[in-house]
Amino acid sequence: MPFSNFGLEEKILRAIKKVGYTQPTLVQIAAIPKVMAGNDVIAIAQTGTGKTAAFVLPILNRLSEVAKGGKIPGTRVMILAPTRELAIQIVDNIESYGRHLAIRVAAIYGGVDEISQIKALRKGVHIVVATPGRLIDIIERHKIDLSAIQTLVLDEADRMLHMGFLPDIETIIETLPRRRQTLMFSATFPKEVESLAKRFQHQPKTVQI
Ligand code: AMP
Repeated sequence: MPFSNFGLEEKILRAIKKVGYTQPTLVQIAAIPKVMAGNDVIAIAQTGTGKTAAFVLPILNRLSEVAKGGKIPGTRVMILAPTRELAIQIVDNIESYGRHLAIRVAAIYGGVDEISQIKALRKGVHIVVATPGRLIDIIERHKIDLSAIQTLVLDEADRMLHMGFLPDIETIIETLPRRRQTLMFSATFPKEVESLAKRFQHQPKTVQI
């Protein structure tokens, strides 16, 4: 099955071609149509399966129209990840698949100076990729406006819970608009992840590969 079957923007298809992917992976085939249709999705997929593109491609597709002409109508997408390394990797993916789009993304993670991250937010971004701890600090300091978020992604949800991020995740979700799309990606599906999905997703579609 070719990537062109999904109905993604031509600019995104061109970027995919440039990175050299010839076919979508299984998790992409299963998840991309469900995400594009606006569903909440819980995908059980290991790292290495192509899970990042499974949420990044539909997100970029949805944003490409809004970003035209360099407009920044407020932060639309929040992606939470357990570690700085993963957050950086997700940002790299967004920049690579979004190379022909005017989409702006900021990375928010601990261990580095907060001021430059706050400055980046102030300029306006469509997507924020964050680790929970640092994001909480920035929310508490009122340095981020989350009132326009339409899509929330919890990447490696099982790992975030293992690391003790549940209270932070709860606090973050409580500050987001209720009407939103919530996507969860997890390598495993323990009770804790199931309970998170029950609490924060609306009639989710499950993808298991
Ligand atoms: P991930 O599971 O998102 O960490 O992705 C694992 C690796 O697969 C990354 O290096 C991606 O660049 C690569 N990848 C993602 N989608 C595809 C695809 N459709 N074809 C080939 N490689 C891919």
